[in-house]
Amino acid sequence: MSSITLSGRTLTSRTLTTNNNPDQHQPDERKPVWTAIQDETLMAVMEVIRMGHPTLRQVARRLTPADWTAPDFPDFVEDMRETLHAAGGIGLAAPQVDRSIRLAVIEIDGGPTRYGELAPIPFAVYINPRVTILDDSVAGHWEGCLSVPGMMGHVERPQHIQVDYLTAEGEAASITAQGFLATVFQHEFDHLDGTLYVDRLSDPTQFAFDEEYRRFVADDE
Ligand code: ZN
Repeated sequence: MSSITLSGRTLTSRTLTTNNNPDQHQPDERKPVWTAIQDETLMAVMEVIRMGHPTLRQVARRLTPADWTAPDFPDFVEDMRETLHAAGGIGLAAPQVDRSIRLAVIEIDGGPTRYGELAPIPFAVYINPRVTILDDSVAGHWEGCLSVPGMMGHVERPQHIQVDYLTAEGEAASITAQGFLATVFQHEFDHLDGTLYVDRLSDPTQFAFDEEYRRFVADDE
């Protein structure tokens, strides 16, 4: 949008053409310029709370049909998606945006990430998820968390699980996951029980800043 500075005020071209006499208050049916600008910047990105915030340590409540049929529920899911994208994450649990409910979203674009080469997982909402371990054997991955920014830690978890959950429409669904994806699910669903990955570090010395992780650890793996 073109703009011009006039007497110290920045006016858009539309302002100049629709309101060339500031003293003459004619109603303008068109959307004011400032609203258009505001809409562009009004991304529904929620604040991601960080370790130390008490909500991250609460056991979140289960959702009921009243939750997923509420008029503002689709907006909340969309806000979760936009917040996940804005933060550059692959998963986000509702307690991380200070909503203590058992809901998480996961989306993996695939390709190279800070977790290595990953297969794509389409955006999905997981409500009231329940994890069943299909194979007790564990393996470790380096995990990061939007609520523990700038850090990475090595955590061992079961690598073959089944997740029973409800979709955003409240329909029962089930998925099995292996390897790193199994870790992602368990990391996100831990948030619903007030657990952070730092609680599960297999070895406290395997906890590092992102930069040092990339410099000293990632290249060796
Ligand atoms: Zn997390």
